[in-house]
Amino acid sequence: MKAFALGRVIPLVEVSVADSAKQSFQGHDVTTSELPLRDACSRPLRDLRISVTDRCNFRCIYCMPKEVFGKDYAFLPRHELLSFEEIERVARVFVGLGVEKIRLTGGEPLLRKDLEHLVARLATLRTLRDADVDLTLTTNGSLLSREAQALRNAGMKRITVSLDAIDETVFQRMNGVGFSALVVQQGIDAALRAGFAPVKVNMVVKRGVNDSQILPIATHFRGTGVEVRFIEFMDVGTSNGWNTESVVPSSEIVRIIDARFPLIPTGRHKPSDTSVRLRYADGLGSIGVISSVSQPFCGDCTRLRLSADGQLFTCLFASHGLDIRMPMRTGDSDDVLCRLVAGLWRQRADRYSEQRGQMNAVCSSQKVEMSFIGG
Ligand code: SAM
Ligand code: SF4
Ligand code: SF4
Repeated sequence: MKAFALGRVIPLVEVSVADSAKQSFQGHDVTTSELPLRDACSRPLRDLRISVTDRCNFRCIYCMPKEVFGKDYAFLPRHELLSFEEIERVARVFVGLGVEKIRLTGGEPLLRKDLEHLVARLATLRTLRDADVDLTLTTNGSLLSREAQALRNAGMKRITVSLDAIDETVFQRMNGVGFSALVVQQGIDAALRAGFAPVKVNMVVKRGVNDSQILPIATHFRGTGVEVRFIEFMDVGTSNGWNTESVVPSSEIVRIIDARFPLIPTGRHKPSDTSVRLRYADGLGSIGVISSVSQPFCGDCTRLRLSADGQLFTCLFASHGLDIRMPMRTGDSDDVLCRLVAGLWRQRADRYSEQRGQMNAVCSSQKVEMSFIGG
């Protein structure tokens, strides 16, 4: 059952949200004829990424460098995190507005206790087209051997595991805490055994640190059914010391792999997919490349992000979010939440990656961290 009635105009009611949000979003009703919602650039709202924690047991150099995220770093206190009930409620509102895909992320999502209980709740959601919500999760894999079966049993079908190197020395340098690549590989094997399909691997490539691992990772997973997605190192947040020299463009990644294992481009599955796919000419599977820096894809970006403390971010590079926790905790109805989300999405005009050159100077000191809103 949908959280709010479709096929009618949602009534205007007095809402108890912050004044600024009130002024921005009051008076925006939602009718079925405009679903899925479209933003100011006509992009539909289709994907919700939910961060369930801002904490992580890794300190990847491109995401949570240990010099910044040290032992005194102030993570969110427990009471500030959305409860599973609150997350489910927000997710229902979003699905009622046209969202078809939900990705759980973090921080490290498997650090959140009893995550499978949340998965079980979200797995029951039905889209406006009366299909199952496409529910997935991105994890660093460190706890996956233990958790894979419970997540699968709870109704999650797909999973993405981040793994930036096969070589132990390189991987341990990338993750900043000396964690073993072998343990992550065991987590991937556990996911395959538990019946996840597909299992994908994310590899962020940073020049001079793990670019030597492009071919070893491709070789390792070729023919296993696991698709590796090679991701250009992005200038998310303000703490990872990003510069253009440390980005290995996807074209270079493809050249390296193609020289050893010829590839045939097959494009994007859906326009909103982040990765462009290529299949091995000999039939032993496929890879994906995510070219957020060299070939931005903002024009098809249908993603909205919910932070662990209940803020909505319309772009990975946003400087601030819209608080949806407060209206929930002060008793506002689903209709009010729906109008808030709708108002936010309608105004959205973000296309940071396409404007990177011009905008960097303006945004560099304000961007939210990747570990806060998930990838
Ligand atoms: N901790 C989980 C993990 O690492 O899979 C989930 C959260 S993590 C923020 C989500 C994804 O974002 C990971 O695949 C990670 O490699 C990617 N990521 C983080 N920082 C990045 C950056 N600066 N550029 C590109 N990808 C990044
Ligand atoms: Fe943690 Fe994932 Fe960020 Fe690495 S990429 S520090 S595993 S949140
Ligand atoms: Fe979407 Fe923002 Fe990334 Fe562009 S920069 S693809 S709008 S999240």
